[in-house]
Order: sequence, then C-alpha cells, then structure tokens
Amino acid sequence: MSRSCDGCNMCCYIPYIDEPTLKKEEWTMCQNCDVGVGCKIYEDRPKPCRTFDCSWIKGETPVEWKPDKVGFFATGHMEKVMTLFADPKMLYQVERTLREYGTGRYVIRYNDNPNQIAEFFDGSMRLIEIPQVELSI
Ligand code: SF4
Ligand code: SF4
Repeated sequence: MSRSCDGCNMCCYIPYIDEPTLKKEEWTMCQNCDVGVGCKIYEDRPKPCRTFDCSWIKGETPVEWKPDKVGFFATGHMEKVMTLFADPKMLYQVERTLREYGTGRYVIRYNDNPNQIAEFFDGSMRLIEIPQVELSI
C-alpha cells in the first residue's frame, strides 16, 4: 500500500528553511501551511519542501510510524543510531511508539536547542542536557 501525507504537516513545522521566498525557524509552523489540510502554495513551494527526505513516506520506517500519529519523523540515511525529530507536545507518544516498534538506540531532537535531546534505549526514554563546551585559546 502506498503511503500518503494525508493531513500530516510535521515537515512544515520542524525543519529550518532559509530560501529567498521562505524563511522559517525550526519548530514553528510555516506561514503557508493550512494545518491538517496542506500547503497553500504547493505548486510554488521552495526546493527544500520539494526535496524533503521523509523516511516514512519512502517506506523506510514502519507503516505505524506515520509522523502526525507518532509525533516524529526520521530523515536522511538510516544510521545505526537513528536521529528522530519530534514534536515536544508528543514525547509520550514518541516513547510509546519506540517501546512498541523500536529496535535499537535513538537520539531524539525535540526543540531548536541541539544540546537538549532525548535518548531512547533499552525500553525507556530520558532527557539529556549536553553541557556547552567553551573553547578558548
Ligand atoms: S513528515 Fe513525511 S508524512 Fe508528514 S507531511 Fe512531511 S513528507 Fe508527509
Ligand atoms: S511552503 Fe508549503 S510545503 Fe513548504 S514548509 Fe511551508 S507549508 Fe510546508
């Protein structure tokens, strides 16, 4: 069965976009998104939107991992430790899904601070704050 975005807007919310026609911060909904419906400028959407590499739509993650249902998506190459990008309001759902279908270790980005991440391993998720390292010479 082919997969369809069908009401999902996760890639219009989480990614950073810096294009001449569209500037968007991470973890903010795009101004062009009709939430739950789709892109209001679909025919003219910028390149990052056209080329967004959603692992679920490509069939590389389980069918049960539809991003708007589970609160996260994966993108790019599948690594041994998979990085997921999540909606912070759905972390409970993220953990439940990984408990059910997860097969390894996952790093979860859930906001625009790359030093605040979550890790899922061995059946549970924990939030981690990575200390800022100041380098001076
Ligand atoms: S995150 Fe994936 S499923 Fe959701 S709208 Fe984007 S491409 Fe479609
Ligand atoms: S321009 Fe359209 S496809 Fe691109 S992020 Fe905005 S709503 Fe989504």
